[in-house]
Order: sequence, then C-alpha cells, then structure tokens
Amino acid sequence: MTTHIESEEHKALRSAVAALGKRYGRDYLTRTVAEGKPPAELWSEAGRLGYLGVNLPEEYGGGGGGIAELSIVLEELGAAGSPLLMLVVSPAICGTVIARFGTEDQKTRWLPALADGTRLMAFGITEPDAGSNSHRITTTARRDGADWLLTGRKVFISGVDIADAVLIVGRTEDARTGNLKPCLFIVPTDAEGLQKRPIDMELNAAEKQFELVLDDVRLPADALVGDEDAGLLQLFAGLNPERIMTAAFAIGMGRYALAKAIEYARDRTVWKAPIGAHQAIAHPLAQAHIDLELARLMMQKAARLYDSGDDVGAGEAANMAKYAAGEACVKAVDQAVHTLGGNGLTREFGLASLITAARVARIAPVSREMILNYVSHQTLGLPKSY
Ligand SMILES: Cc1cc2nc3c(=O)[nH]c(=O)nc-3n(C[C@H](O)[C@H](O)[C@H](O)COP(=O)(O)OP(=O)(O)OC[C@H]3O[C@@H](n4cnc5c(N)ncnc54)[C@H](O)[C@@H]3O)c2cc1C
Repeated sequence: MTTHIESEEHKALRSAVAALGKRYGRDYLTRTVAEGKPPAELWSEAGRLGYLGVNLPEEYGGGGGGIAELSIVLEELGAAGSPLLMLVVSPAICGTVIARFGTEDQKTRWLPALADGTRLMAFGITEPDAGSNSHRITTTARRDGADWLLTGRKVFISGVDIADAVLIVGRTEDARTGNLKPCLFIVPTDAEGLQKRPIDMELNAAEKQFELVLDDVRLPADALVGDEDAGLLQLFAGLNPERIMTAAFAIGMGRYALAKAIEYARDRTVWKAPIGAHQAIAHPLAQAHIDLELARLMMQKAARLYDSGDDVGAGEAANMAKYAAGEACVKAVDQAVHTLGGNGLTREFGLASLITAARVARIAPVSREMILNYVSHQTLGLPKSY
C-alpha cells in the first residue's frame, strides 16, 4: 500500500486552483495593482467555483472542508503569482469564528455570502499602543440599553475598503469590577462613528491597510459574536487559521519566486554553461525548495490538528508553520532576486517588489520573535523576559 501525504481530493483541488491561478497569474495582479483596484474578478470567480468557502459548513453554502483545503487554495493562487490576501481574513478568521460561535442568524446572514465571495469581512485586532502585546488592547465596548457603544483605534487593518464589515476585537467594560475582557464585534464598514484612513505602505499589493478610529460606534446587541466571557478561546479559534493561512500565503509566494529563478537560471548563460550549473546558484535554490517543502509539511500538520478539533495542538503547530514558512519565503525571494542579477531589480521581471511583500509573513500576524518567545516558553518551558 502506498502512503500519501495528500489525499486524491486535495491533489485534485490543488490542480484545479492552480489552473484558475494560471488563467489570472502575475500579469493580472500587476495590472490591478497599477490601476489601484482590488482583484475583484479573481475573487468572484474563485467564489463562484466554491474555493473561497471551501472551509465553511455545507449547510451555509460552504464546501464542508477545513483549513487544510483553504490553505491549498491560497498556496496555489500564490504560486501562480496572484495570491488573495483576504482569504486569510474573510473566510479563514471571520468565517471560522462565526461558524463556530455565531448565532443562527449571524451564520445565515454571513456565511453563504462569505463563501461565495459576494460579501467580505476584514479583521481588526492590532492597535497602535498594543502591537504584539494584544493583551494591551483598549478598544472598549460599553452597554447602552440593548446596544453596544464601541470606542478605540486599530492599525494595519487589511481590506477595509473592500469589506462589508470588520470583525473587531475589543473588550467589554465590566460594570462590577472595572476589568476588561476580550470579545468580538461585527462592525459594518459604513457604521456612523467609524473613520478609516489608508496607511501609505511600501507594498505592491492589491489589498490596502487602514487605520480605524471608532468613536462611540453604536452596534445592536447581535453585533457581538459568541459569548462575551469566552473571549480568548473564541479569538484563538480564528487566530490559528490565520497563522496557517499566512503560512500558505508565504509558501505560495516563495514557490512563485523560486520558479521564476529556476526558469532564468536554466537559460541565462554568461560563461560556458547556464548560471544554474554553478553550485553557488543551484544550491541556495535547492535549499530554498527544501525549506518551502518542510514549511508545507508543518502547515499540513497544523491544519490537520486544527480541523480535527485539537485547538491546543494546532496552536503550537500553527505558530511553527507560520515561522518556518515566513523564513522560507524571505529566503526564497531573496535568492530568486539574486539569481536574476540586475534583472532581479527590474520591473519587467517583477521580483524586487516581492522583497517587501515577503517580509509581511515575517511580521504579521505574529512576528518571528513572538513565535520564538512562544516556543521558548510554552514548548521548552524557559522563563519569560517580559
Ligand atoms: C501588510 C500587513 C497587513 C496586516 N493586516 C492586519 C489585519 O488585517 N488586521 C490586524 O489586526 N493586523 C494586521 N496587521 C498588523 C500585524 O499583525 C502587526 O504588524 C504585527 O502583529 C506586529 O505588531 P506591530 O507592528 O505593532 O509591531 P511591534 O509589536 O511594535 O513589534 C516591533 C518589533 O519588536 C519585536 N518585539 C515586540 N515584542 C517583543 C518581545 N517581547 N520579544 C522580542 N521581540 C519583540 C517584534 O518581533 C517586532 O520585530 C498587518 C500588518 C501588515 C504589515
């Protein structure tokens, strides 16, 4: 009997998404970025084909799969040069949290639309004065009759301009003790009191990042997703998929850059043999390939654990997968640019802009150092410095 790392269904999904990615590819993305537009055509077609909601429950219009399937979709679109960053957010974080903890009404209202891509939800946790320390977030919800009033600031929130709502991580003000608890609110992007300002990023990407100011944004009682006392558990139900999907994003980008470099190194000849024959060029590309393959294995492990309901096991693996994929992507892109010599820095070959893009996977949604901290403390039992 042959053992397969990937099932026949997964392989079929991979090649079907790769075919879609190929039809759009890097040229499509470059064009949409130049026009300052979101990749709406690719998003809609992926939605129609069922790829955006492949992880969401079938009874709400999804594919009934998990993060394993959704990560294949993002990796393959990325490998084709046209990744959809909002897959990390809309179906993976928001869709998962609503599917697991939402009310029947929230599920019917959001899941089918998130699955077919007709509606999109952004996710906001990062704050200017909290950063990596999300325990310090101060966006606060207070009750006003049956409503909530939400006040605070968020930064680097992706895709707010193309989203119908943002899933905001805030805290409730506990009337008795004054303690604050994390909880999740669906905030419509056109809500009164919500201001959005695009942040000028050095990123050649179709999705923009925003600063949000929430000034007493009035929300109905049913804007709260899940239980106001179960914040952390619900939050991590969304954050682990986010890490796994960021790994997929990074692996896809790394594969794209590596493929370009290999193609170039096979042909480009300045001495007797193509430059790819020199081991100084070939070995780093081989190492980049190995690192990407290893990162994918860890991503598959994390997805398998998460999809089987092991939130704790998935937490460690998702962190490790995000770390490994981020590092593998940064190295693959760097080596790809170097392989092309001067052409690595031309717009025509389009690799130089990936240097900045690859760094996103090292910083977001949780930085390389914070993952090393997590593994030092949680896995190795070492003491904390902070
Ligand atoms: C392109 C992009 C898209 C993003 N999209 C979203 C989004 O949609 N929603 C959202 O909520 N957020 C989003 N973010 C924000 C992202 O999650 C944060 O940038 C990230 O969590 C890091 O926070 P920070 O930028 O405040 O860095 P800081 O927390 O200020 O960290 C700065 C540096 O210090 C290091 N550091 C901090 N603490 C420690 C420590 N204890 N030990 C060692 N080193 C430490 C960090 O590793 C990092 O290198 C996005 C960011 C980017 C760049």
